[in-house]
Amino acid sequence: MNWPVEHGGTGWTPVQKYIFDQEYQSAGCPRLSPFGLTMVGPVIMEFGTVAQKDTYLPKILSAEHMWCQGYSEPGAGSDLASLKTKAELDEAGATYIVNGQKIWTSHAHYADMIFCLVRTSTEGKRQEGITFLLIDMKSAGLEVRPIVSIDGGHYLNEVFFRDVEVPVENRIGEENKGWTYAKFLLGHERTGIAGVAKSKRKVEKIKEIAAIEQSGGAPLIEDGDFRTRLAKVEIELSALEYTNLRTMTAENAGQGPGPEASILKIRGTQIEQELNEIFVNALGHYAIPVSTGRGWPPPNEPTIGPDYAVGRTEELFLRRAASIYGGSNEIQKNIIAKAILGLTG
Ligand SMILES: Cc1cc2nc3c(=O)[nH]c(=O)nc-3n(C[C@H](O)[C@H](O)[C@H](O)COP(=O)(O)OP(=O)(O)OC[C@H]3O[C@@H](n4cnc5c(N)ncnc54)[C@H](O)[C@@H]3O)c2cc1C
Repeated sequence: MNWPVEHGGTGWTPVQKYIFDQEYQSAGCPRLSPFGLTMVGPVIMEFGTVAQKDTYLPKILSAEHMWCQGYSEPGAGSDLASLKTKAELDEAGATYIVNGQKIWTSHAHYADMIFCLVRTSTEGKRQEGITFLLIDMKSAGLEVRPIVSIDGGHYLNEVFFRDVEVPVENRIGEENKGWTYAKFLLGHERTGIAGVAKSKRKVEKIKEIAAIEQSGGAPLIEDGDFRTRLAKVEIELSALEYTNLRTMTAENAGQGPGPEASILKIRGTQIEQELNEIFVNALGHYAIPVSTGRGWPPPNEPTIGPDYAVGRTEELFLRRAASIYGGSNEIQKNIIAKAILGLTG
């Protein structure tokens, strides 16, 4: 729904997309994988060759190709420009030979393709020696190893490259200009980053559960402390929604999300994490049996307690990472300090 008509999308305005997202989430629909649809897809549309557009875009839309994002490395997360995974052109100039390692690669174990930032030059500024490659996950020499996260689930991976051959046609744009395309992609990654629709749905769910769960012989929803805590975060969520709508007005007028996206990211993830805590508190004892449903390997025991308790503590644990992925909240604060408040040094 976020794609232009010429590439098979709806051509909707940012506000139309926002409305769709609200309805989609409140209907409890499954989350779509962002790596193809909202990350590499727009990069291919903007900077790809005709052959790249014809090859990859239809397969992203049909979900024939699942993608993953190979940016982070051990030692290159917030400071992404220090990445070391190396790509060298062979003598014929037809194939890149890639060596190195990526980490925290979400969904690499399902992915057909990975879009990668690789180092093609160590001369000059670090940002000017990076190239953007599209790599087939079935390439010889590419190995995926799982990282099991604190909730017991397997979403994350390490990806190793040993003499992986990548045809030069799989390069996006020019060699050593990958940073430009990567920044364009990060702008898209931030769309919808506030997670307003998801958090609103969570508030509704908490209210439903608090009407069932008991505290001191009465429904939890009648407990003053509980109501105050929930009301406070609901007010903050409402303020976030209006901030989000204001940035969208600017987007409708053709301006990018800009540094204001950092405000949405920080507040959005703080609210998400607070709601997860309230949710788990509301469940009482049923929050204790964890790892029912998400464990690795998956458990086969029946779940304990009501269905609405399943996976909530795991969600609390997993979403501790929300203030890290997509650019940590400290980095977002640095952006606000520089770009909005004009602070330097
Ligand atoms: C669940 C999850 C999924 C992820 N999925 C992907 C993925 O699919 N693809 C991918 O490429 N990456 C992915 N990442 C990686 C993510 O982008 C990085 O974890 C993130 O950018 C932070 O980098 P780092 O982990 O190396 O931490 P570091 O950069 O080492 O940071 C460590 C701490 O220091 C702070 N810090 C660092 N620099 C500064 C500074 N200049 N000023 C103030 N504080 C600073 C950070 O905020 C953080 O608290 C994922 C991460 C997680 C947790």
